[in-house]
Amino acid sequence: MFYDYHMHSNFSNDSKSSMEDMIKKSIDLGLKEICFTDHVDYDVDTDYGPPIIFDEYFNKLENLQDKYKNKISIKKGIEFGLQKQIVDTCSSVANQYPFDFIICSIHSIDKLDLYFGEFFKGKNQHEAYEMYFNELYSVVKTYKDYSVLGHLDLIKRYGDYNKLLDDKLFSDIIETILKQIIQDGKGIEINTSCYRYNLPDLTPSRYILNMYKELGGEIITTGSDSHMPSQIAYKFDYIYSYLKSIGFKYVCKFDKMNPEFIKI
Ligand SMILES: [Zn+2]
Ligand SMILES: [Zn+2]
Repeated sequence: MFYDYHMHSNFSNDSKSSMEDMIKKSIDLGLKEICFTDHVDYDVDTDYGPPIIFDEYFNKLENLQDKYKNKISIKKGIEFGLQKQIVDTCSSVANQYPFDFIICSIHSIDKLDLYFGEFFKGKNQHEAYEMYFNELYSVVKTYKDYSVLGHLDLIKRYGDYNKLLDDKLFSDIIETILKQIIQDGKGIEINTSCYRYNLPDLTPSRYILNMYKELGGEIITTGSDSHMPSQIAYKFDYIYSYLKSIGFKYVCKFDKMNPEFIKI
């Protein structure tokens, strides 16, 4: 009874997998429901090629929903790469199309994609982490058209440092972000791409997951962030049991942007 709510297809520039191949593998794995969350990143200096054409995206999703309706439930989502200067653009897209689920992620800051390292130039590690969390807070203060925050501590993936900085150094800003999203009725995801990036902890970290729980956070989705079939639902048996062990009783799935709670 796993729900993979973070999955890319070749509608994302960084995936070559067809939606149909992702669906077939999900059925083989016995998943009940999946949600495609292809990339939408506006106002970035990097050329990602042509953006998603939403009419094509929804047509394809609706055809596949129908074709596989007796085998698996397929939801319509996207992953926005938010930045503080594109909040209005993302809100208007979010309200224009019939999404079930929207992930709010930070991939770039001031138009610089964190992946390419330019962002880290001229900053020490502490400054880079602090800027990342401040950007995330600026976004969640004003942007409300989403379901969960994607890979909340993504900054730890990048920057080519010998070791990660301790979450405790940023606990105030992390707590402020979590309080804001709880107040807004939003959630977080647990993203198992941490294993592909060889991170020493989960994404977000166990410290952040526990803080979210202690602050009263209840909305949590599970996502593999898969870009190919072999990554789907990776380590979900472990993360479901981990969530249960720290007191979460439910994970969420979404329909038309409304959370539904599924007992773990
Ligand atoms: Zn992402
Ligand atoms: Zn993703």
